[in-house]
This record gives sequence, structure tokens and C-alpha cells, in this order.
Amino acid sequence: MSGIWENICENLKNIIGEKQFKQWILPVAGMENGDCNLILIAPDKYSARVIMNQYQDLIIEAFWKIRKRKPIINVTIPTDDNIDCNEGGNGLKQTKNNDDLYSDNLIPRYTFENFVVGNSNQVASSAAMLVSKNPSKVYNPLFIYGGVGLGKTHLLHAIGHYAKKYYPQLKVLYISTETYVNEVMSCLRAKRMDFLRYKYRAQCDLFLVDDIQYLVKTDFGQEEFYHSFNYLYSSNKQIVISSDQYPHHIPHITERLKSRFQWGLITDIASPEFETRVKILQMNSEREGVKLPIDIIHLLAEKFSSNVRELEGALNRVLAYSSIKNVPITLEMAKEIIKNISIERSEKISIENITKIVANYFNLKVQDILSEKRNRGITIPRQIAMFLSRKHTTSSLPEIGRNFGGKDHTTVMNAIKKIKEKSENDNVIERAIKDIERKMGL
Ligand code: ADP
Ligand code: MG
Repeated sequence: MSGIWENICENLKNIIGEKQFKQWILPVAGMENGDCNLILIAPDKYSARVIMNQYQDLIIEAFWKIRKRKPIINVTIPTDDNIDCNEGGNGLKQTKNNDDLYSDNLIPRYTFENFVVGNSNQVASSAAMLVSKNPSKVYNPLFIYGGVGLGKTHLLHAIGHYAKKYYPQLKVLYISTETYVNEVMSCLRAKRMDFLRYKYRAQCDLFLVDDIQYLVKTDFGQEEFYHSFNYLYSSNKQIVISSDQYPHHIPHITERLKSRFQWGLITDIASPEFETRVKILQMNSEREGVKLPIDIIHLLAEKFSSNVRELEGALNRVLAYSSIKNVPITLEMAKEIIKNISIERSEKISIENITKIVANYFNLKVQDILSEKRNRGITIPRQIAMFLSRKHTTSSLPEIGRNFGGKDHTTVMNAIKKIKEKSENDNVIERAIKDIERKMGL
């Protein structure tokens, strides 16, 4: 996992040469803040000037190559002096405080008003509301877990908005764990841990951490997070965490962190029931100024039952189709669009693609998966690929066998049985399957 600044660095290294790179770019920590805001932390004022005068254009160009958008660059030094360099690149500007260096990263639409409450998310949303009304007084930390597309990120942002509205002084910070880990790595490389600690300890009263399951493999990220957690907790600051599973089931996370996640309240979000899905569709279409006939709402709510993101995606397709073609929304049209979505889905999820994704996930070559090799490191991924092919495609057992280097259908059957059993008893396998399914866009 590498952040945008790491990618930009790779780019610059090739252009400016090793010596210049080591002198000016390597000591800089970089992080993306909000939308296309790049914060660079230089070691001192002089380096900050060099970055802006000599490397700014190259940095913008490298950013453009990756994001296809122009960044706003802030170069800062981790003392009282902050140097602000804006889009126009019109020289140095001193700013007095750090406020404009931090955005809370909150998405305006993700509020409690826009969150439909039903049985599936009742406890989680009440707890979220309570925490935002009483930061650090009720549950600390609040830990929300649940499957993909069920509203965890939405709730975290809603807490941030609500708390900010009622406690304007509160310093709210939302961060995805992926971004957090990138920032830790960037600051570590540039020896700028002081900045990181300032941001995540001193500048934070309400810490909203999304998708903590990605705090994996990078021991240092975990260590740093652990200390920030302890600091914030003992300073009576509110922490809210989300994850795709119950804390104790998250692999790679240390016991000491897992046990801290249990100090407050752990609550889950399940797939929304039919009525909730209907309300979400009604709310979203009304927001777009469209009143959808109830039979179309019911059709969409029936077809997309497990994931709100998919439900919203389908609705958006229907609305976009009608608006671009300038035709009224009819039941036939909605059915056609749903059919297209399932065709696209099945094209994306072919045996070939599954095999590629699985091979990639386990750092293997596709040929290994298709081979006759029988060591455990290859057999289990091969069995997982067969299991997923059966689960997500319409292919028969013999067809799957043929696609895996001409295996017999009984081999496929045994593989599926083994993985089913294993995933029920082995967290690591269960988690790997979930991760792979996510990579497949499910
Ligand atoms: P997660 O973080 O659990 O993967 P998100 O919070 O990103 O899911 O939600 C996916 C989409 O579904 C978002 O656009 C969000 O606004 C919407 N959504 C999820 N749950 C609800 C809900 N109960 N009411 C309204 N919108 C919801
Ligand atoms: Mg999320």
C-alpha cells in the first residue's frame, strides 16, 4: 500500500536524479488532505522555499499523472511557521496557525438527517447519536462493525457533523486507516513523527477512524496508532472506530489494541431490511427532485438487498438514464437496467478474473494456481479460487475443473467442501475470502 506522496516521489526520483532527490525530496513528508490538497512537511524554511521554487511544477505534474487533477499544495514546517503555497504558485505566504492545514475530511451529505434508521442499524445509529451529543461521556471508544456498503462511513461522518454543530470548538478529525498508515510511513521516512503526533494527538478531540481492519502488516503504523489511542483516551478525547468485522476477528491486530477496542461499546450494522431499503430509495430520489413510482422502488429494493452502495448505484443508473435520454422512468426501463447491471457483474466475475485476483492476493502466478503443484501454499489458494468460481459464476463443476488446468469435477467438489469447512473454523481463511470478494467488487 503506498500513498500518493510515495508515488510522486518515485516519479520525481527518475526526473531529478538521485542526489537532488535525497537532498530535497526524501526529507519531506507528504499527505493528502481532503480533496486534492497535498500537504508537504519540509524540515526547515529553506527547504520549503526550494520545494516551492524548484519542484512545485514537477510535483503538480506528477500529481496530475496519478489523479488527473491539479492539487493545491501547502508546504509547511513543523514549528510555528507555516508556509502556504497555493495553486497559482505566487510565492511564499506566511500563515499564523495550523487551522487551514487540517481539513476534517467530512463529506457534507453523510449526516444523521440523511441516514435511514431501521432494525438493521438501530443500535449503531442511536449509539452514534449519543456519542455525538456527549463526546467522551458515554461510550469510548465506540466501535461500529459490519459488511461493505452498509453505512459505517456514513455514520462516522454524521457523528463528526453533529458534534461540530453542537460543539463548534471541538477539533474533529476523520481519517481512513489506509490514509493514516500512508501518513505514518511518510512521516517516518522523512523523520517527521513530531508532525504526525501533533496532528493526531494535540489537534484532535474527536477521532473518527474508518476501516481499522487495514491497520495490518505495518507494525509501525500499529504501534503509532496504539500510542495515539492511549494518549487520546487518557486525555478524555472521543474515539470512534469502524471495521468490517468484530474486533477479535480482525487478523494482524495486536491483542492489546483489540482489548482496548472493547473498553467502550461495540455494535454492528446488518444488511438493511426491505422497508429501510425502500426508504433509502425514496429519500435519495427525492433529493434528486424525482418522485419514483412505488413499483420501481420495490423492484430495486428487491433486487439489491445486501448492500446500500449497490442499491444507490442502481438508482443512480435509472435516474441518469432517464435524464440523459430525456425519457420518463418506466418499470420496463428499470428492468432493462437491472439486467445490464447483472450482465456487467457476471462479465467482471469470470473464472479467469477470479483466478487472477486470487493469485495476486497470495502473491502467486496464475500458472501456479492452474498447475498440478500440491504444496499447501498453492493448494489452498487454488481451492479458494474454485470455491469462489462456484459461488459467483454460473459455471458447472466440470466447467470449473476444465478452467483449472483440466481437473476432475470431484476435485472441484472436494475443494469447495474443504474451503467451506475451513472458512467456518479458520478466521484467516474467512478473512482472505472476504478480502478477495471485495477486490472482485462485491
Ligand atoms: P460502509 O462504510 O459500511 O462500506 P458507506 O457508509 O460508505 O458504507 O455507505 C455506502 C452508501 O450507502 C453511502 O452512500 C451511504 O450514504 C449509503 N447508506 C448506507 N446506509 C444508509 C442508510 N441507513 N441510510 C441512507 N443511506 C445509507
Ligand atoms: Mg466505509
